[in-house]
Amino acid sequence: MKAFLFALVGALALTQGLLSAPSAGEGPGSAAILAMPLADPAAALSKAPAMQAESSARPIVLAGSGTVGASRPHYVATATIKPRSGKGAGARLGSASKGYTVWGTGKTSKGYTQITFLGRTGWVRSNQLKRLVVAKYTARQSTVLRSKANGGKKLATIGRDYTLGTVDNARNKPRSWVRVQYKGKTGWVALKHVKKVSLGTAVGPGARTYSDAAWGAAVSKHIARHCPRITVRVSHRKDEYYAQSSPLRITLSRVGHPDPGAAPLKAVALHECAHIMQFKAYPRGFSTLVRHAEKINPRRDGYGIEHLADCMSDSMGAKRSGRLADGSTYYTGYHGKCSSEQKRAAAQLVAGKRPA
Ligand SMILES: [Zn+2]
Repeated sequence: MKAFLFALVGALALTQGLLSAPSAGEGPGSAAILAMPLADPAAALSKAPAMQAESSARPIVLAGSGTVGASRPHYVATATIKPRSGKGAGARLGSASKGYTVWGTGKTSKGYTQITFLGRTGWVRSNQLKRLVVAKYTARQSTVLRSKANGGKKLATIGRDYTLGTVDNARNKPRSWVRVQYKGKTGWVALKHVKKVSLGTAVGPGARTYSDAAWGAAVSKHIARHCPRITVRVSHRKDEYYAQSSPLRITLSRVGHPDPGAAPLKAVALHECAHIMQFKAYPRGFSTLVRHAEKINPRRDGYGIEHLADCMSDSMGAKRSGRLADGSTYYTGYHGKCSSEQKRAAAQLVAGKRPA
């Protein structure tokens, strides 16, 4: 039997969004997917909103610089901040809008945090600031996150090549462990198991964090409900994504997708699973479906069967567009919203029925 191959051409077209918050790419899974430029801290600072000194009529725009201190806390404002010389009292130093990044002095007291602002020292409500990553480390080998330096409870296993962030870069004595954040947990890793990397490195899995088998197994979970027992073949060729009808199989490239749990990859996996369901509904005479899909395709661009797979993936829970942890946006699939006719056909196919 002839194998139908549907390459997902251009399915990962990506629109680069503006940074909404100059968060230096911290947080699990940030910027790991699609190999996009990272929010490097310097760039983030240059995009920080203008800051206005109260006494000045013209806004002062700070280009933003500063050395990354070993343990000096770095913050991003989560609301408009109006630092004062005292805790909720004293002289006003000016204001800065949400998204502005500031360095702290390390002092906190009674719900207030001391920061350096326009060359002076001031206090801001702690709940208006969020700590940023000040250093990053990549695991040289698989290692363990522990509750204490030199031991304590095992909190998690970190795969080789995974990049971790730290908000304080704290070391123990004699400096053989470093405190890091990993998937929402704070713990310690042995320094000999990690290497310091640039702040521009994305937090999250690296290309070698997962073996092919582990990566394929993790991606298979995205489609387990609708395409159980369908083999996921792991490809190392860039942009290679397709489904084939004989044998029923999905091929997904892991190039540029270090994190198997990322939403764009899940959307692509569900799109290919949709093709598997199309094949299953039409084991003979697949051209019937191709014709019908084009008939109900409002774009009439020859990609009706692909648009229909997108509509099916929507109904299976794919998020074909969205925002990544670094603030940029992604888009997968063949674009366009689904018409009511396409949605109806998609629902029938997902239910194992033939729309035509
Ligand atoms: Zn397709």
